[in-house]
Amino acid sequence: MFEKFHVVVIGGGTGGLCLAQGLRQAGVSVAVYERSRTRTERLQGYRVHINPNGCHALHTCLPPALWERFVATCGEPGGAFGFVDEQLRELMLLAGELPPGAVRDPACAHHSVSRITLHQVLSTELDGIAHYDKKFERYERRDDGKIVCFFADGTTTEADVLVAADGANSAVRAQFLPGAVRVDTGILAIVGKLPLTGEVRRDLPKRLYDGPNMVMPPRGCGMFTAPHVLGDGVGENDVSAELDPVLFDNTGSYVMWAYAAARGRYPDASRLADLTGAELKSVIAEMIQGWHPALSRVVAASPEPTVTMLPIYTSVPVDAWQSTNITLLGDAIHSMTPFRGIGANTALRDAELLCGRLVAASRGELPLSQAIEGYEREMRDYGFAAVRASARSAEQFVSENAAGRMLYKGMLRFFNAVPPLKRRVFAD
Ligand SMILES: Cc1cc2nc3c(=O)[nH]c(=O)nc-3n(C[C@H](O)[C@H](O)[C@H](O)COP(=O)(O)OP(=O)(O)OC[C@H]3O[C@@H](n4cnc5c(N)ncnc54)[C@H](O)[C@@H]3O)c2cc1C
Repeated sequence: MFEKFHVVVIGGGTGGLCLAQGLRQAGVSVAVYERSRTRTERLQGYRVHINPNGCHALHTCLPPALWERFVATCGEPGGAFGFVDEQLRELMLLAGELPPGAVRDPACAHHSVSRITLHQVLSTELDGIAHYDKKFERYERRDDGKIVCFFADGTTTEADVLVAADGANSAVRAQFLPGAVRVDTGILAIVGKLPLTGEVRRDLPKRLYDGPNMVMPPRGCGMFTAPHVLGDGVGENDVSAELDPVLFDNTGSYVMWAYAAARGRYPDASRLADLTGAELKSVIAEMIQGWHPALSRVVAASPEPTVTMLPIYTSVPVDAWQSTNITLLGDAIHSMTPFRGIGANTALRDAELLCGRLVAASRGELPLSQAIEGYEREMRDYGFAAVRASARSAEQFVSENAAGRMLYKGMLRFFNAVPPLKRRVFAD
């Protein structure tokens, strides 16, 4: 016995679009409402790391041709993940810690992808499903249980199931779960990207363009660097001419970097939000004085429009709520710090799980209410575990505990020296 229902997704970002792709493929009625006027407004120009969870979700939800396009537009598989000190001395390298001979199936691999390109893939073939320039403002529940959504342009739409996929400042969550809040971690990150030309490659140590690196000075701050290396002809630059051509270019290779420290470490933190890219670069130059000169060169040579400051927030895990036909996914419920690179992957995992449950309900395999309740129970477990893990990573990244960091670095060196142990500990 098939159950017919219409799913309305608020927010056409990573998680919302993946869910829409999966539902559309399975023949479940779905519509996405996104506040941006165009597909490319509000995008970030940096790369995103997609891990095996995210990959699995994309493989499940995307139609085969779009999955192929996703794989074809990923950055080239990089070299080892490096843990290095501020002089770029190796602490530990993680390279292929899979059991020997394990098949590297692209559907359960790690990928570097341009956020713009990922969005292009996710929003393909959604004509008539994805609606732009639709800023959700509030909802009302009708007597028959249907949800009416109200948009800023005065229009409305009706849903049997409403999914909040509207990101960290979710307007749906604010109304549905007003007690679920986000807090400031007190950490400020400054990020930028350096186009990887032949000349830049010649000038940089290979480690900086061969694979991602966690740069660990003695205490108080850290830097993450990651190359995004594209083969010729990968990526399709369809971003609007109003956007910065370097920051939003998704056809070229680059090294992305992010420096972070607690607010109090910066010379005049309250002014950072008003600084230009050039001024932010000078701040970083001062903060990393005495580090390996190549790191200073990466920052100095990064084009100014690519350099921005991000205050780091995290959600606070909430207790279970009464399940209804309104649910949430991704940053709308469990936004986390970017320190583990798992926010988008967790949003994609939500999309895959919720999609599977809704499809099963549409086929009459379980009641809709049970489908949503089961999704929420599982999602809260791994979603808030990810929030806690990323908050711990953020604390460690900026920790002032020099002795603790020294110990940690010693541990990394030890694992590096005993490959079988390293394989066992870091296999996943
Ligand atoms: C610098 C940085 C680097 C990161 N790197 C990684 C990484 O490598 N790997 C990783 O897994 N994660 C990473 N993340 C985290 C990741 O970007 C987010 O967790 C992910 O985008 C969340 O996806 P989402 O679909 O929940 O929300 P989003 O992708 O933010 O989408 C929400 C959408 O909702 C729309 N919206 C908002 N309000 C409304 C409204 N009222 N009405 C209609 N639409 C609305 C927005 O315009 C947006 O399109 C990073 C984050 C940052 C800041």
